[in-house]
Amino acid sequence: MQVNTAAHAMPASGIREIMNAAWGRPEVIHLEVGQPDFPTPPHIVAAAHQAMLDGHTGYTPTAGIPALRAGLAAKIHRRNGFSVEPDQVVLGNGGDQALHATLTAMTRPGNGVLLPDPAWPNFDMMAVLLGLEVAHYPLTAANGYVPDPADLARLVTANTRVLLLNSPSNPLGSVIDRARMGALLDFAAAHDLWVLSDECYDEIVFEGTAVSPAALDRDGRVATVFSFSKTYAMTGWRLGYVAAPPALADVLAKIQEPMISCLNTPTQYAALAALESPPAVLADMVTAYRRRRNLVTSRLEELGMPAFRPAGAFYTWVDVTQGGLAAREFALRLLAEESVAVAPGTAFGPGGEGHVRISLAAADDDLSEGVTRLARLTHRLRDGGR
Ligand code: PMP
Repeated sequence: MQVNTAAHAMPASGIREIMNAAWGRPEVIHLEVGQPDFPTPPHIVAAAHQAMLDGHTGYTPTAGIPALRAGLAAKIHRRNGFSVEPDQVVLGNGGDQALHATLTAMTRPGNGVLLPDPAWPNFDMMAVLLGLEVAHYPLTAANGYVPDPADLARLVTANTRVLLLNSPSNPLGSVIDRARMGALLDFAAAHDLWVLSDECYDEIVFEGTAVSPAALDRDGRVATVFSFSKTYAMTGWRLGYVAAPPALADVLAKIQEPMISCLNTPTQYAALAALESPPAVLADMVTAYRRRRNLVTSRLEELGMPAFRPAGAFYTWVDVTQGGLAAREFALRLLAEESVAVAPGTAFGPGGEGHVRISLAAADDDLSEGVTRLARLTHRLRDGGR
């Protein structure tokens, strides 16, 4: 029997290759994993437990329970600098599925989408599954790892429907500033594109705040996807949400029915408790990521390893070209010879060649030792050893 050829052709994850190779080796320092190393705060776990005891175990409305949609609209107003009505907020099974649903609502097969390179690999996977034509815009050291409208102008065609932005960025940690965001929205307006803004790291920002393109939207072309995964260390709970212009939100609320029916119910009640968290819950995690960011970037600098100093998210993007190996081979050698797992840059697209991504979701000592070993391998390779 023939499987869907597009699904069959979808590339597998390049991070998984490293995780699989590291499997069953307890001595390995794990710097490849893209999820918080904190447990979900106990008051959130307790709220889910209580919801189940209280009998909240059936279906909910497709878009989510009204109290949560209202709470999320209030959070968006408070933290993201724009305003939506509660019925413009639709829940998804993680930011991942919320993005997939939104891209589905915005496009038809054969439409074009502008995606970053390097980027979180799931964007490309979604585009493949939806039969979209992908054009990649480069994020490089030369452009400060933020999208340049001049690059977009080279790539856009009459067929292009969507510009995807991701700030703060995984894997880069770059944050798009207000002036650049304005220019990107002008570009989208000039070419009549939807803007799909992935802000799953919106609350993990080290200096200032990240600007939402929706805060600058004049004509209802921006949909924004958020997640509880990183903010509240809830990756396994699968709670994401999208804030969209009314007509798009209506379609989203409808198409979530065949995709997920609704988000799992105890998670929705847990989310209500998460939104009521004391400020320290979030601030303490951001403080830890900032401390590790500072530790890792200064240690890399001491060791002569060029790296981008991230302004948000929890990753550091390290240039390993002086070792002379391709990123994938470098990551495999680092694991084999130094017992350190990192994500090869090319797992995020061809633009990631020559780089690796270090996750800051690890203990300080592991980060310090891992970075030291990474530099040791790079210098050994550079100096012609093995
Ligand atoms: N966007 C980006 C850029 C991500 O890195 C991730 C998770 N790694 C997500 C979205 C989705 O996360 P989740 O589905 O857990 O909300």
